[in-house]
Amino acid sequence: MKSGKLERLKCSVKNYDWGRPGRDSQVARLFALNSGSGFEPEKPYAEFWMGTHDSGPSFLVSAVENGALNCSETVTLKSWLSKNPNVLGEKVLERWGCDLPFLFKVLSVAKALSIQAHPDKELARTLHKLQPDVYKDGNHKPEMALAITEFEALCGFISLEELKAVLRAVPEIVELVGAEDTDLILKINDQDGEETVRPVFQAIFTQLMSASKDRVTEAIDRLKNRLLAESQVRQLTEKEKLVLLLEKQYRADIGVISAFFLNHVKLNPGEALYLGANEPHAYISGECVECMATSDNVVRAGLTPKYRDVQTLCSMLTYKRGSPEILQGVHLNPYVTRYLPPFDEFEVDCCILPKGKTLVFPAVPGPSIFLVTAGKGTMNAESPKDLVVTEGDVVFAAANTEISVTSASELHLHRTGVNSRFFEA
Ligand SMILES: [Zn+2]
Repeated sequence: MKSGKLERLKCSVKNYDWGRPGRDSQVARLFALNSGSGFEPEKPYAEFWMGTHDSGPSFLVSAVENGALNCSETVTLKSWLSKNPNVLGEKVLERWGCDLPFLFKVLSVAKALSIQAHPDKELARTLHKLQPDVYKDGNHKPEMALAITEFEALCGFISLEELKAVLRAVPEIVELVGAEDTDLILKINDQDGEETVRPVFQAIFTQLMSASKDRVTEAIDRLKNRLLAESQVRQLTEKEKLVLLLEKQYRADIGVISAFFLNHVKLNPGEALYLGANEPHAYISGECVECMATSDNVVRAGLTPKYRDVQTLCSMLTYKRGSPEILQGVHLNPYVTRYLPPFDEFEVDCCILPKGKTLVFPAVPGPSIFLVTAGKGTMNAESPKDLVVTEGDVVFAAANTEISVTSASELHLHRTGVNSRFFEA
């Protein structure tokens, strides 16, 4: 098959049980429009995947139109790239081989995802070797979530001072971790240096996460009853309200209590959060565009019915403390905002083009994926034939392709590509 500069993609959906019900899910809408199929209003729709990961591949529409689907010869983006490596660009091929370095997603979150972290490259290779059925690839997975609605997450550990306040205010945690670990935390200060603080932080968190199921169930019951009683006489803190919400979603799960150890972050639409390797996090609610390195490696330890790997999680974490950085994006022009996380694999552009405008995306040395999240327009890449695009359309653009976009109505586009800092270096 001949390689085009722009290729339409049909993409995969994930119906994890934390997803929003079809009638209320951006993922369901985009998937239905993208695939031309419907959606089930009550079924959860969690993630829409655009990329080459084997767990949720994308397919070329030109191959589908040629009838390839009918003879069960689907052409995945991955297999097409392997036959047309030139579309990735030289520098990308050299660094990452014949595959997309990034995976692009939309998430619709109704209830909290598991408390998790993603391994760095070295650990990912080891885990994949030891447990290939759980850790499906050997890659790291830095990620970034760009809010499209208000979006809440738990992300990274709170500061030492905040943890001391938690230990004074939440007796149920002290009961679980014991007086000894509690005293150690209360006695140290950041001035004592990382080599003192980090092991103490790791010890108390590991102690908490390793508590037996019975003790956790009891502690959460007591915590819940105490907070409900106190809510009659005082305003609960945001974190306490969150803990009660998590308790409703995941009864008797240690993740409910460990939320006290993590920063509670609220993003407005247009704000982004990024997560490096070995940082604990859990998305709580809202919808976002997400980008990551091509990997599905997740080490889970709470808020999940899935397999937990508490020892791996507790030993891999960096135990960095304090509020995470929130990206506001940089304006490239009046219509495009760019989000640049500190990872080579990806960046995300958010473009809102008013009706009747034309905008040029300059050629970049790597591949891009465009997703239309609202409106209608055309995309053109140095060819006489325009590609008409509407909500739900996903388009792969080859490296070194200048693309002009014209809007027929207000057009909302997200583009992801390799981080432009990688090409500047
Ligand atoms: Zn994650």
